[in-house]
Amino acid sequence: MLKNLEAQPADALLALIKMHAADHRADKIDLGVGVYRTNSGATPVFRAIKKAEQVLVNEQDSKSYLGPEGDTGFVSALMPYIFGEDATMKGRLEGMQTPGGTGAVRLAVALADQAGVRQIHMGVPSWPNHVQILKDVGVEAVTFDHANPDGTANVDAVLGAIRAAGTGGAVLLHGCCHNPTGIDYTAADWDAIADAFAEHGSLPILDIAYQGLGHGLDEDVAGVRRVLAAVPEALICYSCDKNFGLYRDRVGAFYMMAERSDQLSAIASNANALARANWSMPPDHGGAAVRTVLRDERLTKEWLDELDEMRARMRRVRARLAAADGKVPGLGLAALGKQNGLFAMLPLDKDQITRLREDHGIYMAGSGRINVAGLHEGNTPKFIAALADVIGS
Ligand code: PMP
Repeated sequence: MLKNLEAQPADALLALIKMHAADHRADKIDLGVGVYRTNSGATPVFRAIKKAEQVLVNEQDSKSYLGPEGDTGFVSALMPYIFGEDATMKGRLEGMQTPGGTGAVRLAVALADQAGVRQIHMGVPSWPNHVQILKDVGVEAVTFDHANPDGTANVDAVLGAIRAAGTGGAVLLHGCCHNPTGIDYTAADWDAIADAFAEHGSLPILDIAYQGLGHGLDEDVAGVRRVLAAVPEALICYSCDKNFGLYRDRVGAFYMMAERSDQLSAIASNANALARANWSMPPDHGGAAVRTVLRDERLTKEWLDELDEMRARMRRVRARLAAADGKVPGLGLAALGKQNGLFAMLPLDKDQITRLREDHGIYMAGSGRINVAGLHEGNTPKFIAALADVIGS
């Protein structure tokens, strides 16, 4: 039986990690994997998380099962950050913990499928797992172009998708810090998107994986809040893996917003049943650490300060790249200064990407996606010179 299985293509990013590790050039640059890096290339554990973990070691008195909804204290502690002052939307909103943002997206797609959604409209390029999850659940992905060639979001395309999806369909949007383009909707775009959802009745699935890494915690979810204020129902997927640096601990949450509060328990019971069949219960440790941070004023402040440092560093890297636009004409670097988060796409071909790797020790995804956090003041000049070399400017 098992011999019938055909080999799946190797994960290109994982192959890149191996190639980077095997490269002994001292000035190699890793722009591949999507994790935050400090100036020295490290991806450290947040100071506030370290302290919270210590609290857990000292105080946690049981690791008995919790249930498919996970740590409800974690789920509710996050809500004011995501949803603002009226965090439960007058009792219309309920959440559960998931294994990472991936688990939340999986639940959103499976729950939409269970509710009768047959197509989900989504912008491309996107985080590759979006399409894979849709395929795995058996929902058709209907794609539209996310970005314009000038490095802005194609708002007409998303408005068209919301209209086309209509009352039976769903539209999946990145809440902020779009992966892989870094191109987010403007406030005016979000206004139009919210109005379109309200007019055409399609279900918003909002995926927030990088809150706080763009312009600020509130700023990064202003668009999502605008949509939620306009629509009767929505599904929200959330990851703490970047903004709390918890990647391998798999910390996420899934929220369901119902038209009326008395509909919530039936909706949540479906999500619970899906979670039970998928992973039964989410891993506890990371969610418990986030809850511990958010319930302690001092630790919360430390977390916010560290997040501010990360965001400021990425804005500096982006500003440096934008300032180098004239040295590498045609790559659109000027736009990177206005984009957000860890990622940007450079219009490089396969040959140029290979030459960056082989001739210069610069590692990036074959799609042209770079992780801007792999750059700093010290290595940016080398990166720009290498770009100039491969594009022949
Ligand atoms: N959504 C998007 C847009 C992402 O980029 C990612 C992570 N790369 C996720 C969801 C999932 O994040 P997690 O690692 O928490 O599963």
